Amino acid sequence: MAKYPPEPFRIKMVEPIQLLDRPQREKALQQAGYNLFALPAQAVFIDLLTDSGTGSMSQEQWAALMQGDESYAGARSYQRLAQAMDEVTGFRYFVPTHQGRAAENLLAALLVKPGQYVPSNMHFDTTDANIRARLGRPVNLVVDEAFDPSSDHPFKGNMDIQKLRSFIQEVGRENIPLGMITITNNAGGGQPVSLENLRQVAATYHEAGIPFFIDACRFAENAYFIKLREPGQSHRSVREIAREIFSLADGATMSAKKDALVNIGGFLAMNDEALYRQACNELILREGFPTYGGLSGRDLDAMAVGLHEGLDEDYLAYRLGQTAYLAGCLSEAGIPIIQPPGGHAVYVDAGSLFPHIPRDQFPGQALAVELYLEAGVRTVEIGSVMFAYPDPDSGEIMHPRLELVRLAIPRRVYTQSHLDYVVEAFTRIYARRDRVCGYRFTYAPDLLRHFTARFEPVQQQETAF
Ligand SMILES: *Cc1c(COP(=O)(O)O)cnc(C)c1O
Repeated sequence: MAKYPPEPFRIKMVEPIQLLDRPQREKALQQAGYNLFALPAQAVFIDLLTDSGTGSMSQEQWAALMQGDESYAGARSYQRLAQAMDEVTGFRYFVPTHQGRAAENLLAALLVKPGQYVPSNMHFDTTDANIRARLGRPVNLVVDEAFDPSSDHPFKGNMDIQKLRSFIQEVGRENIPLGMITITNNAGGGQPVSLENLRQVAATYHEAGIPFFIDACRFAENAYFIKLREPGQSHRSVREIAREIFSLADGATMSAKKDALVNIGGFLAMNDEALYRQACNELILREGFPTYGGLSGRDLDAMAVGLHEGLDEDYLAYRLGQTAYLAGCLSEAGIPIIQPPGGHAVYVDAGSLFPHIPRDQFPGQALAVELYLEAGVRTVEIGSVMFAYPDPDSGEIMHPRLELVRLAIPRRVYTQSHLDYVVEAFTRIYARRDRVCGYRFTYAPDLLRHFTARFEPVQQQETAF
Protein backbone atom coordinates (compact mmCIF):
# COMPACT_ATOMS: atom_id res chain seq x y z
CA MET A 1 0.00 0.00 0.00
CA ALA A 2 1.24 3.48 -0.87
CA LYS A 3 1.61 5.70 2.18
CA TYR A 4 -0.18 9.01 2.55
CA PRO A 5 1.98 11.79 4.00
CA PRO A 6 0.31 13.86 6.74
CA GLU A 7 -0.28 17.40 5.51
CA PRO A 8 2.29 19.87 6.90
CA PHE A 9 -0.54 22.35 7.61
CA ARG A 10 -3.95 22.38 9.25
CA ILE A 11 -7.18 23.77 7.86
CA LYS A 12 -8.49 27.13 9.05
CA MET A 13 -11.07 27.96 6.40
CA VAL A 14 -13.34 25.55 4.49
CA GLU A 15 -15.14 25.72 1.16
CA PRO A 16 -18.22 23.45 0.86
CA ILE A 17 -18.46 21.10 -2.13
CA GLN A 18 -21.50 19.10 -3.18
CA LEU A 19 -22.09 15.94 -5.22
CA LEU A 20 -25.02 16.19 -7.66
CA ASP A 21 -26.98 12.98 -8.19
CA ARG A 22 -26.50 10.89 -11.33
CA PRO A 23 -29.44 12.28 -13.40
CA GLN A 24 -28.27 15.84 -12.62
CA ARG A 25 -24.74 14.94 -13.69
CA GLU A 26 -26.03 13.44 -16.96
CA LYS A 27 -27.98 16.58 -17.70
CA ALA A 28 -25.04 18.88 -16.86
CA LEU A 29 -22.81 16.85 -19.16
CA GLN A 30 -25.22 16.99 -22.10
CA GLN A 31 -25.59 20.73 -21.68
CA ALA A 32 -21.79 21.03 -21.68
CA GLY A 33 -21.52 19.17 -25.00
CA TYR A 34 -19.50 16.47 -23.16
CA ASN A 35 -16.72 19.01 -22.65
CA LEU A 36 -15.81 19.22 -18.96
CA PHE A 37 -14.45 22.74 -19.44
CA ALA A 38 -18.05 23.80 -20.11
CA LEU A 39 -19.41 22.51 -16.78
CA PRO A 40 -20.38 25.02 -14.11
CA ALA A 41 -18.03 24.53 -11.15
CA GLN A 42 -20.91 23.78 -8.77
CA ALA A 43 -21.68 20.68 -10.85
CA VAL A 44 -18.24 19.29 -9.95
CA PHE A 45 -17.51 17.43 -6.70
CA ILE A 46 -13.75 16.82 -6.88
CA ASP A 47 -12.03 19.09 -9.37
CA LEU A 48 -8.83 17.64 -10.80
CA LEU A 49 -9.10 19.62 -14.04
CA THR A 50 -5.92 21.51 -13.32
CA ASP A 51 -3.43 22.44 -10.64
CA SER A 52 -3.23 25.89 -12.23
CA GLY A 53 -4.40 28.69 -9.96
CA THR A 54 -6.52 26.25 -7.95
CA GLY A 55 -4.28 25.97 -4.88
CA SER A 56 -4.94 27.30 -1.39
CA MET A 57 -2.93 30.31 -0.35
CA SER A 58 -1.25 30.30 3.05
CA GLN A 59 -1.97 32.67 5.94
CA GLU A 60 1.25 34.50 5.00
CA GLN A 61 0.00 35.03 1.45
CA TRP A 62 -3.40 36.27 2.62
CA ALA A 63 -1.63 38.62 5.01
CA ALA A 64 0.59 39.86 2.17
CA LEU A 65 -2.51 40.70 0.11
CA MET A 66 -3.43 43.30 2.70
CA GLN A 67 -0.16 45.11 2.05
CA GLY A 68 -0.79 45.38 -1.68
CA ASP A 69 0.32 48.75 -3.02
CA GLU A 70 -1.94 49.68 -5.92
CA SER A 71 0.25 52.52 -7.25
CA TYR A 72 0.23 52.47 -11.04
CA ALA A 73 4.01 52.75 -11.31
CA GLY A 74 6.83 51.65 -9.02
CA ALA A 75 4.57 50.07 -6.38
CA ARG A 76 6.13 48.61 -3.22
CA SER A 77 4.44 45.33 -4.18
CA TYR A 78 6.50 45.30 -7.37
CA GLN A 79 9.67 45.94 -5.39
CA ARG A 80 8.90 43.02 -3.08
CA LEU A 81 8.25 40.77 -6.08
CA ALA A 82 11.45 41.97 -7.75
CA GLN A 83 13.38 41.01 -4.62
CA ALA A 84 11.80 37.54 -4.51
CA MET A 85 12.51 37.10 -8.24
CA ASP A 86 16.12 38.04 -7.66
CA GLU A 87 16.50 35.67 -4.70
CA VAL A 88 14.72 32.73 -6.29
CA THR A 89 15.64 33.00 -9.99
CA GLY A 90 18.56 35.41 -10.27
CA PHE A 91 17.51 36.67 -13.73
CA ARG A 92 18.54 40.28 -14.35
CA TYR A 93 15.18 41.47 -15.72
CA PHE A 94 11.57 40.39 -15.58
CA VAL A 95 8.09 41.64 -16.31
CA PRO A 96 5.06 40.39 -14.39
CA THR A 97 2.28 38.98 -16.57
CA HIS A 98 -1.24 37.95 -15.68
CA GLN A 99 -0.39 34.31 -16.35
CA GLY A 100 2.02 32.02 -18.16
CA ARG A 101 0.51 32.28 -21.63
CA ALA A 102 0.82 36.07 -21.59
CA ALA A 103 4.56 35.62 -21.04
CA GLU A 104 4.63 33.07 -23.88
CA ASN A 105 2.78 35.46 -26.15
CA LEU A 106 5.32 38.22 -25.46
CA LEU A 107 8.23 35.89 -26.08
CA ALA A 108 6.77 34.49 -29.31
CA ALA A 109 5.80 37.98 -30.53
CA LEU A 110 9.36 39.22 -29.97
CA LEU A 111 11.36 36.29 -31.25
CA VAL A 112 9.42 33.92 -33.53
CA LYS A 113 9.15 34.64 -37.29
CA PRO A 114 6.94 32.64 -39.70
CA GLY A 115 8.41 29.24 -40.55
CA GLN A 116 10.91 29.23 -37.68
CA TYR A 117 11.29 26.31 -35.28
CA VAL A 118 11.23 26.28 -31.49
CA PRO A 119 12.55 23.03 -30.02
CA SER A 120 11.72 21.86 -26.49
CA ASN A 121 11.43 18.56 -24.65
CA MET A 122 7.65 18.99 -25.06
CA HIS A 123 5.75 22.23 -25.38
CA PHE A 124 2.64 22.61 -23.27
CA ASP A 125 -0.59 23.42 -25.14
CA THR A 126 -0.48 27.20 -24.65
CA THR A 127 3.22 27.40 -25.56
CA ASP A 128 2.62 25.23 -28.62
CA ALA A 129 -0.32 27.42 -29.67
CA ASN A 130 1.48 30.72 -29.04
CA ILE A 131 4.31 29.60 -31.33
CA ARG A 132 1.84 28.42 -33.98
CA ALA A 133 -0.09 31.69 -33.68
CA ARG A 134 3.11 33.45 -34.90
CA LEU A 135 3.33 30.85 -37.69
CA GLY A 136 6.27 29.21 -35.98
CA ARG A 137 6.75 25.47 -35.55
CA PRO A 138 6.97 23.95 -32.10
CA VAL A 139 9.14 20.81 -32.06
CA ASN A 140 9.21 18.17 -29.30
CA LEU A 141 12.51 16.34 -28.76
CA VAL A 142 11.97 14.53 -25.48
CA VAL A 143 13.74 11.19 -24.79
CA ASP A 144 11.97 8.09 -26.12
CA GLU A 145 11.38 6.78 -22.58
CA ALA A 146 8.78 9.56 -22.20
CA PHE A 147 6.49 7.56 -24.48
CA ASP A 148 6.91 4.26 -22.69
CA PRO A 149 4.36 4.34 -19.85
CA SER A 150 6.07 1.42 -18.13
CA SER A 151 9.65 2.71 -18.22
CA ASP A 152 10.68 3.86 -14.75
CA HIS A 153 13.44 6.17 -15.99
CA PRO A 154 13.84 8.77 -13.18
CA PHE A 155 13.93 11.75 -15.58
CA LYS A 156 11.48 11.07 -18.39
CA GLY A 157 11.22 14.79 -19.08
CA ASN A 158 14.81 14.91 -20.38
CA MET A 159 15.59 16.29 -23.80
CA ASP A 160 17.16 13.81 -26.22
CA ILE A 161 20.47 15.62 -26.74
CA GLN A 162 21.30 13.63 -29.89
CA LYS A 163 17.94 14.52 -31.42
CA LEU A 164 18.46 18.15 -30.46
CA ARG A 165 21.93 18.27 -32.05
CA SER A 166 20.74 16.66 -35.29
CA PHE A 167 17.71 18.92 -35.38
CA ILE A 168 19.82 22.07 -35.11
CA GLN A 169 22.10 20.68 -37.87
CA GLU A 170 19.16 19.82 -40.07
CA VAL A 171 17.17 23.08 -39.99
CA GLY A 172 20.07 25.46 -39.28
CA ARG A 173 20.67 27.71 -36.32
CA GLU A 174 19.28 30.74 -38.22
CA ASN A 175 15.85 29.09 -38.28
CA ILE A 176 15.77 28.61 -34.51
CA PRO A 177 15.13 31.96 -32.76
CA LEU A 178 15.04 30.35 -29.32
CA GLY A 179 15.18 26.94 -27.68
CA MET A 180 13.10 25.91 -24.70
CA ILE A 181 12.60 23.19 -22.11
CA THR A 182 9.57 22.59 -19.92
CA ILE A 183 10.17 21.72 -16.25
CA THR A 184 8.48 19.53 -15.22
CA ASN A 185 7.22 18.21 -18.54
CA ASN A 186 3.49 18.75 -18.13
CA ALA A 187 2.38 17.49 -21.56
CA GLY A 188 4.48 14.35 -21.05
CA GLY A 189 3.23 13.33 -17.63
CA GLY A 190 4.66 15.96 -15.27
CA GLN A 191 8.03 14.22 -15.55
CA PRO A 192 11.17 15.96 -14.30
CA VAL A 193 14.30 16.93 -16.21
CA SER A 194 17.66 16.12 -14.61
CA LEU A 195 20.18 18.81 -13.77
CA GLU A 196 22.71 17.00 -15.93
CA ASN A 197 20.32 17.15 -18.89
CA LEU A 198 19.56 20.83 -18.28
CA ARG A 199 23.30 21.54 -18.34
CA GLN A 200 23.65 19.66 -21.65
CA VAL A 201 20.64 21.36 -23.18
CA ALA A 202 22.01 24.77 -22.20
CA ALA A 203 25.44 23.89 -23.64
CA THR A 204 23.92 22.61 -26.90
CA TYR A 205 21.79 25.72 -27.44
CA HIS A 206 24.63 28.04 -26.46
CA GLU A 207 27.19 26.34 -28.71
CA ALA A 208 24.82 27.08 -31.59
CA GLY A 209 24.22 30.64 -30.34
CA ILE A 210 20.54 29.97 -29.62
CA PRO A 211 18.93 31.76 -26.63
CA PHE A 212 17.64 29.26 -24.03
CA PHE A 213 14.35 29.86 -22.23
CA ILE A 214 12.89 27.64 -19.53
CA ASP A 215 9.15 27.11 -19.17
CA ALA A 216 9.52 27.14 -15.40
CA CYS A 217 5.94 26.55 -14.20
CA ARG A 218 6.96 23.68 -11.90
CA PHE A 219 10.60 24.53 -11.26
CA ALA A 220 10.31 23.77 -7.52
CA GLU A 221 8.81 20.31 -8.02
CA ASN A 222 11.46 19.63 -10.66
CA ALA A 223 14.24 20.78 -8.30
CA TYR A 224 12.87 18.51 -5.55
CA PHE A 225 12.89 15.52 -7.92
CA ILE A 226 16.53 16.33 -8.71
CA LYS A 227 17.32 16.34 -4.99
CA LEU A 228 15.54 13.00 -4.52
CA ARG A 229 16.69 11.17 -7.62
CA GLU A 230 19.88 12.59 -9.10
CA PRO A 231 23.20 11.20 -7.91
CA GLY A 232 25.22 13.81 -6.01
CA GLN A 233 22.31 16.20 -5.43
CA SER A 234 20.73 14.95 -2.19
CA HIS A 235 22.84 17.17 0.07
CA ARG A 236 21.84 20.39 -1.72
CA SER A 237 18.84 22.51 -0.84
CA VAL A 238 16.02 22.72 -3.36
CA ARG A 239 16.55 26.47 -3.37
CA GLU A 240 20.17 26.03 -4.42
CA ILE A 241 19.27 23.52 -7.14
CA ALA A 242 16.59 25.87 -8.48
CA ARG A 243 19.11 28.72 -8.60
CA GLU A 244 21.50 26.58 -10.61
CA ILE A 245 18.72 25.63 -13.04
CA PHE A 246 17.87 29.27 -13.70
CA SER A 247 21.55 30.20 -14.00
CA LEU A 248 21.82 27.88 -17.02
CA ALA A 249 19.23 29.79 -19.06
CA ASP A 250 18.90 33.16 -20.74
CA GLY A 251 15.36 33.60 -19.51
CA ALA A 252 12.15 31.91 -18.41
CA THR A 253 8.41 32.04 -18.76
CA MET A 254 6.34 31.04 -15.78
CA SER A 255 2.76 30.60 -14.74
CA ALA A 256 2.87 31.57 -11.06
CA LYS A 257 -0.43 29.69 -10.75
CA LYS A 258 1.66 26.55 -10.36
CA ASP A 259 4.74 26.54 -8.13
CA ALA A 260 4.37 30.14 -6.95
CA LEU A 261 1.13 29.07 -5.22
CA VAL A 262 -1.09 31.93 -6.35
CA ASN A 263 -4.47 32.02 -8.06
CA ILE A 264 -3.32 34.36 -10.82
CA GLY A 265 0.05 35.64 -12.05
CA GLY A 266 3.14 34.87 -14.07
CA PHE A 267 6.30 36.39 -15.46
CA LEU A 268 8.70 36.61 -18.37
CA ALA A 269 12.30 36.86 -17.15
CA MET A 270 15.51 37.38 -19.11
CA ASN A 271 19.13 38.52 -18.86
CA ASP A 272 19.24 40.43 -22.16
CA GLU A 273 18.61 44.14 -21.70
CA ALA A 274 17.51 44.85 -25.28
CA LEU A 275 14.99 42.02 -25.13
CA TYR A 276 13.72 43.35 -21.79
CA ARG A 277 13.12 46.78 -23.29
CA GLN A 278 11.17 45.26 -26.18
CA ALA A 279 9.20 43.12 -23.74
CA CYS A 280 8.28 46.26 -21.77
CA ASN A 281 6.91 47.87 -24.92
CA GLU A 282 4.87 44.80 -25.85
CA LEU A 283 3.69 44.53 -22.25
CA ILE A 284 2.51 48.14 -22.19
CA LEU A 285 0.60 47.52 -25.42
CA ARG A 286 -1.16 44.38 -24.22
CA GLU A 287 -0.91 43.81 -20.47
CA GLY A 288 -0.03 46.91 -18.51
CA PHE A 289 2.81 49.03 -17.18
CA PRO A 290 6.02 47.03 -16.51
CA THR A 291 5.69 47.26 -12.72
CA TYR A 292 2.32 45.52 -12.61
CA GLY A 293 1.88 43.68 -15.93
CA GLY A 294 -1.89 43.24 -15.79
CA LEU A 295 -2.00 42.29 -12.10
CA SER A 296 -3.03 44.20 -9.01
CA GLY A 297 -0.42 45.12 -6.42
CA ARG A 298 -1.83 42.57 -4.01
CA ASP A 299 -1.41 39.80 -6.60
CA LEU A 300 2.27 40.72 -6.88
CA ASP A 301 2.65 40.48 -3.10
CA ALA A 302 1.00 37.05 -2.95
CA MET A 303 3.33 35.89 -5.72
CA ALA A 304 6.41 37.24 -3.92
CA VAL A 305 5.53 35.15 -0.84
CA GLY A 306 4.48 32.14 -2.93
CA LEU A 307 7.75 31.99 -4.86
CA HIS A 308 9.52 31.30 -1.58
CA GLU A 309 6.83 29.02 -0.10
CA GLY A 310 6.87 26.82 -3.19
CA LEU A 311 10.47 25.89 -2.35
CA ASP A 312 9.70 24.75 1.21
CA GLU A 313 10.95 21.18 1.41
CA ASP A 314 8.33 19.93 3.90
CA TYR A 315 5.67 21.19 1.54
CA LEU A 316 7.37 19.60 -1.49
CA ALA A 317 7.77 16.23 0.28
CA TYR A 318 4.05 16.24 1.08
CA ARG A 319 3.13 17.45 -2.42
CA LEU A 320 5.04 14.74 -4.28
CA GLY A 321 4.04 12.16 -1.65
CA GLN A 322 0.34 12.90 -2.21
CA THR A 323 0.72 12.42 -5.96
CA ALA A 324 2.67 9.19 -5.43
CA TYR A 325 -0.09 7.95 -3.10
CA LEU A 326 -2.82 8.47 -5.71
CA ALA A 327 -0.64 6.85 -8.37
CA GLY A 328 0.10 3.87 -6.12
CA CYS A 329 -3.59 3.27 -5.32
CA LEU A 330 -4.62 3.49 -9.00
CA SER A 331 -1.86 1.10 -10.02
CA GLU A 332 -2.96 -1.40 -7.39
CA ALA A 333 -6.49 -1.14 -8.80
CA GLY A 334 -5.17 -2.19 -12.24
CA ILE A 335 -5.43 1.25 -13.87
CA PRO A 336 -2.63 1.81 -16.42
CA ILE A 337 -0.79 5.01 -15.48
CA ILE A 338 2.42 6.67 -16.53
CA GLN A 339 5.19 5.39 -14.29
CA PRO A 340 6.80 6.77 -12.28
CA PRO A 341 4.19 9.42 -11.39
CA GLY A 342 5.11 13.06 -11.99
CA GLY A 343 4.90 15.90 -9.51
CA HIS A 344 1.57 17.61 -9.92
CA ALA A 345 -0.61 14.96 -11.48
CA VAL A 346 -1.23 11.34 -12.25
CA TYR A 347 -1.61 10.55 -15.95
CA VAL A 348 -3.83 7.64 -16.85
CA ASP A 349 -3.12 5.83 -20.10
CA ALA A 350 -6.65 5.84 -21.53
CA GLY A 351 -5.42 4.37 -24.82
CA SER A 352 -4.52 1.10 -23.10
CA LEU A 353 -7.50 1.21 -20.71
CA PHE A 354 -9.89 1.39 -23.69
CA PRO A 355 -8.14 -0.44 -26.56
CA HIS A 356 -11.52 -0.83 -28.32
CA ILE A 357 -11.91 2.97 -28.80
CA PRO A 358 -10.09 4.26 -31.93
CA ARG A 359 -7.87 7.33 -31.53
CA ASP A 360 -10.15 9.52 -33.62
CA GLN A 361 -12.89 8.72 -31.12
CA PHE A 362 -10.78 10.03 -28.26
CA PRO A 363 -10.29 7.35 -25.59
CA GLY A 364 -9.03 10.05 -23.18
CA GLN A 365 -12.16 12.13 -23.60
CA ALA A 366 -14.23 8.99 -23.04
CA LEU A 367 -12.50 8.35 -19.71
CA ALA A 368 -12.81 11.97 -18.58
CA VAL A 369 -16.55 11.91 -19.34
CA GLU A 370 -16.96 8.58 -17.54
CA LEU A 371 -15.22 9.84 -14.37
CA TYR A 372 -17.60 12.75 -14.20
CA LEU A 373 -20.67 10.57 -14.77
CA GLU A 374 -19.51 8.03 -12.22
CA ALA A 375 -18.45 10.31 -9.39
CA GLY A 376 -18.60 14.02 -10.24
CA VAL A 377 -14.81 14.05 -10.69
CA ARG A 378 -13.49 16.50 -13.29
CA THR A 379 -10.23 15.74 -15.14
CA VAL A 380 -8.78 16.67 -18.51
CA GLU A 381 -7.92 14.78 -21.67
CA ILE A 382 -4.33 15.20 -22.85
CA GLY A 383 -4.39 13.30 -26.10
CA SER A 384 -5.81 13.70 -29.57
CA VAL A 385 -8.48 16.23 -28.58
CA MET A 386 -5.71 18.51 -27.34
CA PHE A 387 -2.85 17.68 -29.67
CA ALA A 388 -3.89 16.02 -32.96
CA TYR A 389 -3.19 18.66 -35.63
CA PRO A 390 -2.67 18.48 -39.40
CA ASP A 391 1.00 18.48 -40.39
CA PRO A 392 1.72 21.89 -42.04
CA ASP A 393 3.55 20.20 -44.94
CA SER A 394 1.49 17.08 -45.68
CA GLY A 395 -1.88 18.01 -44.16
CA GLU A 396 -2.02 14.57 -42.58
CA ILE A 397 -3.42 14.42 -39.02
CA MET A 398 -0.58 13.86 -36.58
CA HIS A 399 -1.70 12.18 -33.34
CA PRO A 400 0.28 12.62 -30.14
CA ARG A 401 2.11 9.50 -28.98
CA LEU A 402 -0.24 8.77 -26.06
CA GLU A 403 -3.92 9.19 -25.20
CA LEU A 404 -3.85 10.38 -21.61
CA VAL A 405 -6.18 11.69 -18.94
CA ARG A 406 -4.61 13.96 -16.38
CA LEU A 407 -5.64 13.96 -12.74
CA ALA A 408 -4.06 17.22 -11.64
CA ILE A 409 -3.88 17.77 -7.90
CA PRO A 410 -4.52 21.32 -6.70
CA ARG A 411 -1.93 22.44 -4.13
CA ARG A 412 -2.89 22.16 -0.45
CA VAL A 413 -6.59 21.55 -1.27
CA TYR A 414 -7.71 17.90 -1.12
CA THR A 415 -7.21 15.29 1.60
CA GLN A 416 -6.58 11.54 1.56
CA SER A 417 -10.29 10.70 1.65
CA HIS A 418 -10.92 12.80 -1.47
CA LEU A 419 -8.23 10.85 -3.30
CA ASP A 420 -9.57 7.51 -2.01
CA TYR A 421 -12.99 8.46 -3.39
CA VAL A 422 -11.42 9.07 -6.82
CA VAL A 423 -9.75 5.66 -6.71
CA GLU A 424 -13.10 3.99 -5.93
CA ALA A 425 -14.66 5.65 -8.98
CA PHE A 426 -11.85 4.27 -11.14
CA THR A 427 -12.41 0.78 -9.74
CA ARG A 428 -16.06 0.83 -10.83
CA ILE A 429 -15.22 2.14 -14.32
CA TYR A 430 -12.49 -0.48 -14.67
CA ALA A 431 -15.05 -3.23 -14.04
CA ARG A 432 -17.15 -2.10 -17.03
CA ARG A 433 -14.37 -0.74 -19.22
CA ASP A 434 -15.36 -2.79 -22.32
CA ARG A 435 -18.68 -0.98 -22.53
CA VAL A 436 -17.38 2.61 -22.51
CA CYS A 437 -17.91 4.33 -25.90
CA GLY A 438 -15.94 6.92 -27.88
CA TYR A 439 -16.81 10.52 -28.83
CA ARG A 440 -16.76 12.69 -31.92
CA PHE A 441 -16.63 16.46 -32.39
CA THR A 442 -19.80 18.38 -33.17
CA TYR A 443 -17.81 21.63 -33.00
CA ALA A 444 -14.06 22.32 -32.86
CA PRO A 445 -12.07 25.56 -33.35
CA ASP A 446 -8.64 25.52 -35.05
CA LEU A 447 -6.39 26.17 -32.04
CA LEU A 448 -6.64 25.11 -28.38
CA ARG A 449 -9.80 23.30 -29.31
CA HIS A 450 -10.10 21.28 -26.08
CA PHE A 451 -11.26 24.43 -24.26
CA THR A 452 -14.36 25.06 -26.37
CA ALA A 453 -15.04 21.95 -28.50
CA ARG A 454 -18.36 20.09 -28.21
CA PHE A 455 -18.82 16.33 -28.58
CA GLU A 456 -21.38 13.59 -28.94
CA PRO A 457 -21.07 9.92 -27.99
CA VAL A 458 -20.39 7.44 -30.80
CA GLN A 459 -22.85 4.63 -30.19
CA GLN A 460 -21.30 1.18 -29.87
CA GLN A 461 -23.16 -0.37 -32.80
CA GLU A 462 -21.65 2.28 -35.12
CA THR A 463 -18.14 1.03 -34.40
CA ALA A 464 -18.71 -2.70 -33.93
CA PHE A 465 -18.40 -4.76 -37.10
C1 LIG B 1 0.06 26.14 -17.11
C2 LIG B 1 1.18 26.05 -18.03
C3 LIG B 1 1.44 27.05 -18.96
C4 LIG B 1 0.52 28.23 -19.19
O1 LIG B 1 0.27 28.98 -18.06
P1 LIG B 1 -1.14 29.73 -17.83
O2 LIG B 1 -0.95 30.42 -16.53
O3 LIG B 1 -2.20 28.69 -17.76
O4 LIG B 1 -1.36 30.67 -18.95
C5 LIG B 1 2.56 26.90 -19.74
N1 LIG B 1 3.38 25.85 -19.63
C6 LIG B 1 3.16 24.86 -18.75
C7 LIG B 1 4.11 23.72 -18.64
C8 LIG B 1 2.05 24.92 -17.93
O5 LIG B 1 1.83 23.92 -17.07
